[in-house]
This record gives sequence, C-alpha cells and structure tokens, in this order.
Amino acid sequence: MLIKDRAVCIRASDYSETSQVVTLFARQSGKVRAIAKGSKRARSAFDGPIEVLSLGDVMFSGIRTDALATLTEFQSQPARGGLRRHLFALHSALFAAELLDSLTDEVDPHPGLFDHFAQFVQGMDDPEIVGDRRDAMIRLILFQLALLGEIGLQPVLKACANCKRPLTAQWGESYFSSAANGLICRDCEMSFPDKVRVDIKAANVLADLRQIAQADEETLDGIERLLIHHFTHILGRSPKLAKHVLPA
Ligand SMILES: [Zn+2]
Repeated sequence: MLIKDRAVCIRASDYSETSQVVTLFARQSGKVRAIAKGSKRARSAFDGPIEVLSLGDVMFSGIRTDALATLTEFQSQPARGGLRRHLFALHSALFAAELLDSLTDEVDPHPGLFDHFAQFVQGMDDPEIVGDRRDAMIRLILFQLALLGEIGLQPVLKACANCKRPLTAQWGESYFSSAANGLICRDCEMSFPDKVRVDIKAANVLADLRQIAQADEETLDGIERLLIHHFTHILGRSPKLAKHVLPA
C-alpha cells in the first residue's frame, strides 16, 4: 500500500552507489526509515540525492518499525538559500533534527511537532530571517521547548518544580534541575544535587515566553546552554551537534 505524506529528511546516508537510506520525519506517519532506490541517479523519481533538512511531499510503502520502508517519491520544495548561506542557521537546524531523531520513536506520529519543525526549518532557510543570529536562536529555543512538550517532558518553568512557589522577582536566585524537570527556588535547591544556577533574566524569559522576543543575546545563549545541559541529561550523552550551536 502506498502512503502519501509530507516529510522533512532528518538523516541521510549512502546505501549503495545509487541508493540512500533516509530517516524522514513525516506528518502522519511519524519517524520513518526508508530506502530510496536510485535516488543518486541523475534520472530518478527524486530529482537528485535527498538532502538532510529538505521538506517535501513523499510517497512510501511498507512502513514498519522493524524494517526499512521503501520511499518511491520525494518532491522537495525548492530551497531558499538561508541554510546554505548562514552557518549558524544550518547548525541550529541540524541540531534540531538530531534531537528530533534521538527523542522520537519510529512510526509514532506527532503532527503538531511536525508542523512546528517544518516551520522552523523553513524559517531557518529564509535568508531574511536567519541573517540575524538572535532571531535564529529564538526559533531554536522555541522549537526545543515544543519538542520537550510533545514527548511528554514539558519542564516546569512558571514555578518551583519542587515547592510549586510561582516564580517572581523575589526569588533572587534561581536554579534548574533536570532530575526535577524544572526550575528550582533558593529554598529547595539544597535537595537537588544536579541543579545548575540559572540567570534570573533567563528564568523570567522561560517563565513567560512572550518576553523572548525582547531578550538579549547573552540571555538567549544562557537559555540554550541550559537546554543543552538538560538534553544531555535526558539522552544520557551530549548531543553530537551541540558544540556547533554553542561553543564551550
Ligand atoms: Zn521551591
């Protein structure tokens, strides 16, 4: 049975001289690993090799979790050039794709997350948007928070994850604990040995994401550092591309 879907390629490797194995994140089907026979031939149903981060209409058959599906068509949307021209946009989008690949199960659909990811990749490929590193960073942070929410790991950011006291200016100091999955206040931090200190400006942005548009680059970098720390805890290893997003 042939299935039509819309998908972003999140991973691609050569399978043979003429074929690729790709991992697609598809709107209706979720993450699918498939073989694209002949995709590297000059004339094929794929208009050239399938590139990571390309978005398009796909057709596949034989979707299962224990074997490769067969991709018979991939009509990709023309690239707009942002990802080619701006290294930070490219690294951010590849990093987001790595997280998506690591944190979703095969054939487990997340249409809302697909829509956010597709919009994120298209934004990163828009030369007018991604020339600005700050704007690209905001998009990356919002995508990562959406990803956490979709996989059932929405962190507690409006209050202390332990005592539930809402975050206010009186907090003075704030912390984040991956074990508690959220912000931790000064009174509770002693009970969480894994906690890290969070700049109060960053904590305020996390508690009220409407403020993110006004946040300065240093605050955004602080939030991203915290998210990478958190993803490292969740995955049990540091994400491979994290070092390209934020140099240590
Ligand atoms: Zn507390």
